[in-house]
Amino acid sequence: MKVAVLGNGQLGAMLQQAGLRIGIDVQLLDIETDFLPPVNVPITAEREHWPANLFTDALQRHPGWLNSAAFASLANRIQQKTLLDELGLATAPWCVVSADMSQDTLHQKLGADVFMKRASGGYDGRGQQRLREGVVSDFPDWAGDAVAEQAIRFETEVSIIGARGLDGQIVYYRLTENRHDDGVLTVSLSQPERFTLLQPKAEQMLRTVMEALDYVGVMAIECFLINGQLLINEIAPRVHNSGHWTQAGASISQFELHLRAVCGLPLPQPEQPGSSMMLNLLGLPYDNTWLEHSAAQLHWYGKSLRPGRKMGHLNFYHPNPEQLASWLAELDLPSNLENARAWALARLR
Ligand code: ATP
Ligand code: MG
Repeated sequence: MKVAVLGNGQLGAMLQQAGLRIGIDVQLLDIETDFLPPVNVPITAEREHWPANLFTDALQRHPGWLNSAAFASLANRIQQKTLLDELGLATAPWCVVSADMSQDTLHQKLGADVFMKRASGGYDGRGQQRLREGVVSDFPDWAGDAVAEQAIRFETEVSIIGARGLDGQIVYYRLTENRHDDGVLTVSLSQPERFTLLQPKAEQMLRTVMEALDYVGVMAIECFLINGQLLINEIAPRVHNSGHWTQAGASISQFELHLRAVCGLPLPQPEQPGSSMMLNLLGLPYDNTWLEHSAAQLHWYGKSLRPGRKMGHLNFYHPNPEQLASWLAELDLPSNLENARAWALARLR
């Protein structure tokens, strides 16, 4: 069996690794240089933005290209938020930022603390500007192609990840709790019983979006939790960083689940027996000491080093969250993960 994946970053590489185990040959497509696979090969994506060129043009006509409607509605934040409004799914209060709007207008509409985000192309907190009333900030020159959102004083952030098969069957992982520093995910925790009461609501939100878009494969929804309510931050039509813990803590990882879904293979509910933790290694060179820890599962992406760049991640799994806490407490960590460590320890103990 073959699957082609648009994009050749770490998500593609981890899909490839997962495919290897279950006999699926995953070909990563480079948008700039590659040719499309034969018509009987399903094509999926690990990225949401691509240039308009001959390759992406031909892709639109390929019978194996999955989810083109979903990408069209989700890649742009204006369209994504409009869809959520139409589906009656809660988000932070938001508006389109037109070219003639001033910062004051945004504060009048949305309050004293506002996130302005580029309509498309941003990731890991790039393409965003926080605007605080009374604080002089450089008003971005990309107004006119942006949204603004009220800054939510959330209790925590969570994500729901699941997969929908070709026949419409959906399976879900339990809600993952996520911490971001400067707009970038630093740590994810998955603990049984932590969000049992919210799980049905989160699943219903993900189901609503997947069914509305007739989506096939893994999708993630990032949410803010405030006053017991889930507000959707954003939707990712792909395997997601907050689901990397499933490589260690679930019987079927999100990467394998995605491949199963797009190939029409069985989609049993993954077993998630214990607690898991994922730490992102941001802007760090390779360090042998991570390999000294008996329980740390290192995934290294082999990318060139840049400040803040996602270079790899560490997964930990144990039936008992206390054990994760004591591993985390003694772990030799870079200083940019100290806040994330304290956050996670408070939740594991
Ligand atoms: P990625 O695609 O890598 O997940 P992104 O660049 O699309 O990230 P967002 O998910 O929009 O960025 O925002 C990154 C983080 O910034 C959020 O997870 C959250 O911590 C914070 N943030 C964004 N929008 C808001 C908001 N309206 N209120 C409070 N915090 C916010
Ligand atoms: Mg995000």
